[in-house]
Amino acid sequence: MSNREDAMIINSLVRQALTSAQEVMGDNGLNAVLRTSGLERFISKLSTNNLEPSIQASQYVWFIQAIEDFYGRAGKGMLRRIGKASFQYAVREQAALLGVAGVALKLLPEKQRIKFILNGMVDALKKSNPQVDARLDDGGDKLAYIESTCAICHSRHSETPICYLYVGSISEAVQWATGKEHQVVETHCLAKGDPYCRFEVGETRE
Ligand SMILES: [Zn+2]
Repeated sequence: MSNREDAMIINSLVRQALTSAQEVMGDNGLNAVLRTSGLERFISKLSTNNLEPSIQASQYVWFIQAIEDFYGRAGKGMLRRIGKASFQYAVREQAALLGVAGVALKLLPEKQRIKFILNGMVDALKKSNPQVDARLDDGGDKLAYIESTCAICHSRHSETPICYLYVGSISEAVQWATGKEHQVVETHCLAKGDPYCRFEVGETRE
């Protein structure tokens, strides 16, 4: 088994996370969290935009955890919003990587649209980091996104799933592809001792 402690998160992904967090939390919120998670060097300097290694996976997890702690009961909702902003950032800044540049999905059935965008996310993640193990599960009656190398809950322990940021990104992706808000539930989580994090796309929310 590889030692995931040593895994590095690349600059462009750190930039995506910090920019999204800044959008949702504002400068003051972001700076406070950067300080408590030992990432002061990113204050008013949101990481360069390239594929060079930036921070250790464990540092990234501290950052996420610090957001949760900072906002207390509102933490989950904040992380979900940051996840949504993070998908919007990808559409805006990484359309080619995500495979959405110039794509029209209107004529496709809804399930195909969801598959398209979730596969795009899997591919983009793998292109950014070849060690990522992510895939789409379309064997059951519901589509699900699975990652066994989730960077959000890496080395954390919890009795319930905790990858709220991921839930936010996936629900925003599904909304982008279908024009409708769907329920996204994290059914499995590495932090619970499951072999992967699994996010199931459910019914439309009315
Ligand atoms: Zn996870």
